[in-house]
Amino acid sequence: MGGSQALEQIAGYNEDIGTMCTYCNKATSTSDHIRWECEFFKSVRTEIDEELANIPHQLIPCSLKNDIAPAMKADGRKTYWGTDFRNDTDSKVKKLLGGNLELQTPGSNLQKTEERQAALDIIEDSTMANLNARQIMLKHKAAHGSGGNLDFPDSEEIRDSMIGYPDSYNVEIYGDGSYTTPTIWWAALAGYGVCLL
Ligand SMILES: [Zn+2]
Repeated sequence: MGGSQALEQIAGYNEDIGTMCTYCNKATSTSDHIRWECEFFKSVRTEIDEELANIPHQLIPCSLKNDIAPAMKADGRKTYWGTDFRNDTDSKVKKLLGGNLELQTPGSNLQKTEERQAALDIIEDSTMANLNARQIMLKHKAAHGSGGNLDFPDSEEIRDSMIGYPDSYNVEIYGDGSYTTPTIWWAALAGYGVCLL
């Protein structure tokens, strides 16, 4: 027992143990201190991952420090797990932890700016709060744009259009994978609709 426990925890049930860090003798021995702050292990932390070692660990939630990934949301003004950045947070650290203001930045043209705003609207929509990524995608999977009023031929026009074509006429058209490529003329009408999708 206690292999990864900080002295402060052990002292809670063992009075022979003091709470001062025995590695640096400068601070209370908490798990955060040992893993993220203790000078004694600084070179080890830096060697493993310099960028991570230099992050103010207060920005990282306890769950993540213990290898449990929290739910993430792409609000680029905060960390992946929703913590606000401190005013003095370095821009590289922000980026590593999820900071990304691309959606808040106007695009290179009006369409891109509108697309970014539409994405922001989804992120900020409170009805999306309890949905996972797949559910959100399904909810928003729909046609975009104004569309148009299509004119489809009636049976008479179809018949007229088929005059002069043999039954074996191979239509050069492709479906969405639901059907094989039509080999007879009338079947091409279904393909016409598929192409518009
Ligand atoms: Zn220490």
